[in-house]
Amino acid sequence: MSGNGHCSPSSSAAPRAGQHRTVALVGPPNAGKSTLFNALTGLRQKVANFPGVTVEHHSGLSRLPNGVEVELVDLPGVYSLDPRTEDERVTRDTLLGEVAGIRKPDAILLILDSTNLGRHLMLAAPVLATGTPTIVVLNMADDLASRGGSVDTEKLASQLGAPVVLISAAKGEGVDTVRNFLAGQFAVPRPVELPVLQDVPRCRQWSAKIGTQAQYRPPAPPLWTRRLDGLFLHSVAGPLVFLALVVMVFQAMFSGAEPLMNGVEGMIAASGAWLAKHLPDVWWRDLLVEGVWGGVGSVIVFLPQILLLFLFIGLLEDSGYLARAALIADRTMAKVGLQGKSFIPLLSAYACAVPAIMATRTIENKRDRIATILIAPFMTCSARLPVYTLIIAAFLPEKPLLGPLLGTRAAAMLGLYLLGFLAAVVTARALKSSILKSDRTPFLLEMPPYRWPTLRGIGLRLYDRAIAFLKRAGTVILTVAVLLWVLAHLPLKDGKAPPIENSLAGTVGRTVEPLIEPLGFNWKIGIGLITSLAAREVIVGTLGTIYGIEGDAANEDSVGLQKALQKDLDLGGAIALLIFFAFAMQCMSTLAVVRRETGGWKWPILQFSYMSFLAYVGAAIANRLV
Ligand code: GDP
Repeated sequence: MSGNGHCSPSSSAAPRAGQHRTVALVGPPNAGKSTLFNALTGLRQKVANFPGVTVEHHSGLSRLPNGVEVELVDLPGVYSLDPRTEDERVTRDTLLGEVAGIRKPDAILLILDSTNLGRHLMLAAPVLATGTPTIVVLNMADDLASRGGSVDTEKLASQLGAPVVLISAAKGEGVDTVRNFLAGQFAVPRPVELPVLQDVPRCRQWSAKIGTQAQYRPPAPPLWTRRLDGLFLHSVAGPLVFLALVVMVFQAMFSGAEPLMNGVEGMIAASGAWLAKHLPDVWWRDLLVEGVWGGVGSVIVFLPQILLLFLFIGLLEDSGYLARAALIADRTMAKVGLQGKSFIPLLSAYACAVPAIMATRTIENKRDRIATILIAPFMTCSARLPVYTLIIAAFLPEKPLLGPLLGTRAAAMLGLYLLGFLAAVVTARALKSSILKSDRTPFLLEMPPYRWPTLRGIGLRLYDRAIAFLKRAGTVILTVAVLLWVLAHLPLKDGKAPPIENSLAGTVGRTVEPLIEPLGFNWKIGIGLITSLAAREVIVGTLGTIYGIEGDAANEDSVGLQKALQKDLDLGGAIALLIFFAFAMQCMSTLAVVRRETGGWKWPILQFSYMSFLAYVGAAIANRLV
């Protein structure tokens, strides 16, 4: 952050009557900003839009006892100044004086909810770092006291280097102290050690430390929170509810996504056929139709299913339920020698191991951290979802198992998720009782209040995931698809491409064939295994391209890929392929991030070898047994 008011002479000068000062109100949503704003300005306020965006702000005049008038600007509610959303950007730009037509504020009223300081204090770090004179207003004093919470404001002030007041805006208690601050001399915050901005785990640790030093005692949760917790955290009912939710999510993911996936598939097939018909008959037509459309298209089909998974994860997390699940899981984690802190990174590994491995930075114990990094890629990431769905749909007929509650396909998928989880648990156990042995750290995770998830919050998540998925499809998958198509057409003989098994790609596939034959795979699957070293879902695109070249892609119906696959794999091979994908470390990005986070090649090499070994042996056994 560049704004720094430390040297600004006007910010510490005593105010004179008639002088105009601007003060910004900043705080997380629902901290009571509007209530305080109304109490300070009465009816003297107006609404305006920020230039160029749809974000609104209220501004109003407050006349103070000594005749000084201040203009108060009520900014949008934010949890951070990391400019990810429009609200955050507007708030940040206003505080730094970078919005045309709005003066850089002379001071900031930072309003935090005193009943939720654990979460709200994080916003203090970036706000104080602007160097603008700030008063930290802890609101909802009445609620804090009535539910038995407390905080030492003087200690907090000395930790933050800025004045702190505890008020109740709704009851008007303490509002005069705020007025006195506005009328008095503004002092720049005393420099204190602040966490690196935008480093969320570090900000969280910092706010927990500051809260502890200010003897913050959070209030007891309200009655209905306690009732819900009584169920969700119950030692018997809790895990059962969790299990029921997981089963529901899987079934909904299968039955709910199908019509959407068929729709996308139909669109891709139709547009591919249209292209094939209308483009001139030249070599790049085939590249476009078979390589790009067949390869990238067969992966894009899975977007609805991935979004559905994230919709459920978003609902569970935003409602506050997931933190409860973490607490239940802590008991299981203890059994394998890991701590509850590993749960959140491991849970996020169900989306993708890369952010999960970065999230292990919150684990202070180095050995626990390495163990968590090593097992994270066993969690079923969303890149495995297309592979699993394709193979299950091709080889397992859908039949009801528990009436309409659970079908065979959802159950198989659930089984694969469990398999990855078991591999992680067993590996963790082995690591923690040998090379990574350490003492157990107690579990400290703040339980957020239960809330209704907001459309906006969920929408943002889905948007992020969709962009991330499409980016991969447009980069890694597209590159591999084009490269593969070219390799599948060379070497040219008399200007004509060879049959695919004699092409360069085919030769590579046939070279590895003896190695993978015990797993029940032929050279085509072999090519897929090689390309999927870049990223798992690439195998689906690769098979799409290969079958596209072999057959006539444009004529394939929506289950073309499944049908083609049935010709190349028997049931044993199909199960072996599923197991291979459950265990193998086929992801360059993950290896790169493990190297970075562990500071060397030792751990990523160990991890790659171990996971490949497990994948190979597991698949060979499955192929032999079935
Ligand atoms: P904003 O989103 O930050 O503008 O928050 P609001 O001013 O709309 O307040 C959020 C909710 O908290 C409203 O229901 C207010 O009535 C309530 N509220 C505001 N100040 C206090 C307070 O001091 N004590 C209590 N108990 N509730 C308050």
